[in-house]
Formats: sequence, structure tokens, C-alpha cells
Amino acid sequence: MTHGTPGWYGRLRSAGGERLSGDEARRANLRAGRALAGTLRTTLGPRGCDKLLVGSDGVVVVTNDGASILDRMEIDHPAASLLLDVASQQADQVGDGTTSAVLLAGALLGEAESLFERGLHPTTVGEGYWRACDLALDRLPELTVETDGGDRERLVDVVRTAVTGKWTDREATHLAELAADAVLAVGEGDRVDRDRIVLHAVPGGSPTDTELVDGLVVDMAESSTTATDRADDLPRRLTDARVALVDTPLDVPTTRTTRSVAVESVDGLEALTTYETDQRDRRAAALLDAGADVVFCQQAVDEDLAGRLAAGGVFVAERTRQDELYKLARATGARLVATTADLTPTDLGRAGVVERRTVGDRDLTVVRGNAATEQVSVLLRGGTDHVVEETRRVLEDCLTVAVLAYRGDGLLPGGGATEAALAAHLRESARGLGGREALAVEAAATALEVVPRTLAENAGVPVVDALTDLRAHHAQGRSTVGIGAATGEATEMVAEGVLEPLAVKRRALACATEGATLLLRIDDVVAASAGGGGHGEEGHDHGHSHEHDHGHGGYPWALGH
Ligand code: ADP
Ligand code: MG
Repeated sequence: MTHGTPGWYGRLRSAGGERLSGDEARRANLRAGRALAGTLRTTLGPRGCDKLLVGSDGVVVVTNDGASILDRMEIDHPAASLLLDVASQQADQVGDGTTSAVLLAGALLGEAESLFERGLHPTTVGEGYWRACDLALDRLPELTVETDGGDRERLVDVVRTAVTGKWTDREATHLAELAADAVLAVGEGDRVDRDRIVLHAVPGGSPTDTELVDGLVVDMAESSTTATDRADDLPRRLTDARVALVDTPLDVPTTRTTRSVAVESVDGLEALTTYETDQRDRRAAALLDAGADVVFCQQAVDEDLAGRLAAGGVFVAERTRQDELYKLARATGARLVATTADLTPTDLGRAGVVERRTVGDRDLTVVRGNAATEQVSVLLRGGTDHVVEETRRVLEDCLTVAVLAYRGDGLLPGGGATEAALAAHLRESARGLGGREALAVEAAATALEVVPRTLAENAGVPVVDALTDLRAHHAQGRSTVGIGAATGEATEMVAEGVLEPLAVKRRALACATEGATLLLRIDDVVAASAGGGGHGEEGHDHGHSHEHDHGHGGYPWALGH
């Protein structure tokens, strides 16, 4: 992170001539935080705009995913990076709601400035904001709508709400369905074992070609190879197959592989050849006798041996990656054996289907285990590596959101409906509070409306009218009314299928409050010496990639703009 580097300190000085402290420093921090939020403003919601991100390495990415933009943005203001750290927790923990969290933090900072002008102390504002956050968090469960977590339509709705605007509608629906189906496939009761959903990139095609495959995918170009061309004669699809997993080389010592064999006579040569043939026969026989239909070997397989097995109807894959071998063991119940000599039928695993498929330019082997250990694979597609990676990233978020929804801990109406309902609740609650605290809680209510306000703005409708109308609905207790995507007008959100998991909103509220109050408390920014107090660069790696080239100028959130 940025602590201890002279870049931002120099910037602070150059901005004001003098080092900033007290109110000046605080205001500067608030501006930096608000500017960060301002950057994301136009991206919120289904009608949000895209950003074209250009990296210093020339890589160009088009996205309107808040988390993705923040991750790639070069940020040289310490206060803005604090906010960024808070926001990145949102993305990591619940997979969605980053833009909303940052916008809310920005709005809280904006409101704080007016509160300062009215004579409130930053500490009072901070306390009031936490009070508002608690009131809102307590209220959230009451705003949830009744749905059945296992209901596929609902799951798809929730995921689609999370990714609206990130893709075209067609892509969003396709990937939302895919994430929902993946979660339904491995979910049991209210538990989802996320490890049983494996994402696998196959270059080529487009994101809409991304498909869900029932089973484990072994990529024959990446993590395994077909041991012999003779496998081409085997059926592409085997049902109820018995699977052997071998974790040592299936080779036969030959004159080619064993340098130290000394052959002194023709008899000796013959004996050696017989020995080799013998070994091959024995290994092939061991696998055939045990009843294997498919063999995965972690190391090389002698080609003649593989050919012999293929002739016996056995498909052999060699050089299977260790982790893949373990996954195969888990999926099929096979035991890894070190030598074929003591292979018994009980070492073999069972696979409902083993199917060889070609996707793009990749040969894949799909292994479908038994129901209890079933894995599903998502074959990610996209024209370029970047598209595939972006798809992977958003799909990960889709899965996180789908899991939250599947667990059924409550769904809330989106489109700003929940924020509007919370704002109404906070205004109501403020009446029972003392003067200063009431002001801060009311300010938080106004800040919460940043979500519907921005959605209306991005839909291109007059914001004041939309908000007045929305407040009127909520005053009448219609707490599921938000801003409709198509019209920008007040719309009932549950019927539209615009739903978000409770956990996402809960985190967004907490993250935004934490970020805003963190910045409010700071009244000085002091450059620490590089070696001092363990605040060097290494100690502050929060695991996301905003390592910057300091000293860059011209960013809207930099001081002095
Ligand atoms: P975030 O990074 O916060 O997820 P998004 O750009 O995904 O930001 O925008 C999310 C907001 O858009 C949420 O408030 C969500 O409820 C709203 N939204 C999503 N889909 C729709 C829709 N079809 N109609 C109205 N609002 C929607
Ligand atoms: Mg979202």
C-alpha cells in the first residue's frame, strides 16, 4: 500500500504549499473519498455506463463492475486507498454491492461536510453514523421478502440482479442460469460445497458459449495427455466405467530408458526383449483383470502398453496433474495405486459416464462420478484471455451470490427499494433522538438515497421527481418499490425479480459506514519514514492489486483539483 512512500506526501505538500492538518486535512480526505465514489457513480445499475480502463502495460479492459474498476484503478491518495481497502472487503466477502458501498460511503462523507458547517464535531458525526448503521441493520431482516431458496427462478433473479449491466442481457441471463444450476447441482439441504464447482477456462467462443458440465473436466492439453493414438478407436463415451488411478510411471525398463543394461549375446538380447514384453503383458493384464475401463496415470505411460490397453478397450490418459488425480479420486472413489502388481478391483473407482469431448481446440475428458461426490465444471469461454478472465471474475461473484441466496438467509428488493425503505425508517427513528444525533441519522438517511437517486440519474429521468415519487410510495408503506430499470420510475421490485441477498446489503452498510467514519476521524496525514514502525510497504499488502506508480498526476481525486 501507499504508507511511507514519499509520493503522496509530496503531493499533499505541493497541493497546499504547506502540510495540511486539522480541518483542512479532513476536508481534503473527504474530497478524496467523494471523488473516488464520484468515479463509480455513472456505472451503477442496469443503465450504468462502462469504463474503459487502460493499464500502464497497455492492457485495455471495458467494464462497469465496481470491484473490477477499483482493483485496477491507480490511486495515489492515502485517504482514497483507505476507502478502497474497505470496499475490497465487500467484494471478497459477498461478491457484490461494491459500487453501492462506495457510493454510500461517498454520500456519507458529502453529508458530513454539511454537518461540520452546522457545527457538529467529526466525532459526533461518526457516532451518529454508527447509530444510523445499527438502526438500519436491525431493520433489514424486517424488509426481507418471502421466497424459497431452492426455487431456481428466484436464484436466477438474484444472480441476474447482481450482474445486471455487466454483460448484455442475454449473457447476464445465461451466466445467471448457469451459476444457479451449478449451485443447485451441488447444494444439499442448506449447504453448498463451493469446492465442488470447478471453473475451467477453454479459450475461444464467446461468454454465452460458457457451459455447465456435469462432472469433472480433465483438459487433455493442460493437465493430461492421451497416451496413445489408438485411443481414437475407442468409443467417445463410456457409461458405468471403472476408473484406475496410478501415481507412478507405467513404463517398462527398456534399452532406451535404462542405460546400464549390458547385453552380451544374442540370447541376452532376446531375453531382454522377452522380459520387456513380459512386463508389458503383466501390467496390461493387471489393469484388464481388475476390470479397469479408464486409467489415469500421474506419469508417463509406455506407448506400447497404452496401445495394448486400448486394444483391450481401456482408455489411458498419462501425465495427469496431481491435483486432478486427487479430484478424480474424490469424484469416483478410486484409490491411488503405486504399482499395478497389487491392483485389485476394489481399488477402482466408478464413474457414471466418462466422455471425451472437443470444445474449441481442446480435447477434454469429462468424468461424472457418483451423486454423493458429484462435481460440476463450468467451461468458461471467451474470444480472448482477457474476456475469459473477466468472465471468470464475474462468474465467481455470481456463484458467491447464488450460494448466499441458496442458503436462504433472506432476500431484499433491489433497485434502491431497500435503501429508500431504510431512509424512511431512519428519518422516523431520528424523531426520537436528541438534536445532534438526530441530525447525523437524518444525514445518513439522505446518504442512503444515493442508490435510488443514482439509479434514476443513470436511467436518464429527472432525479428530484423520481425521488419524491419514491418517497411517497415508502411513506405509504410500500417498501418494495424502487427505481425500475427500463423506465427509471417507481416500480415494484419483487415482481420484477430484482432481488439481493440480505448479506450483501448488510455488508454494504457496514463497509460504507466503516469507510466513511474512518476518514472522518483523520485530521492529519503524516509521512512516516520508510523503515519506521513496521509501516513499510510489505506490511500492508491487503491482497489486491493496487500497487501504484506514485507521483502520477491528473487523477480527479488527487488533492488540489
Ligand atoms: P454493485 O457493484 O453495487 O453491485 P451494480 O452496478 O451491480 O453495483 O448496481 C447494483 C444496483 O442496481 C443495485 O441497487 C441493484 O438492486 C440495482 N439493479 C440491478 N438490476 C436492476 C434492475 N433490473 N432494475 C433496477 N435496479 C436494478
Ligand atoms: Mg452488482
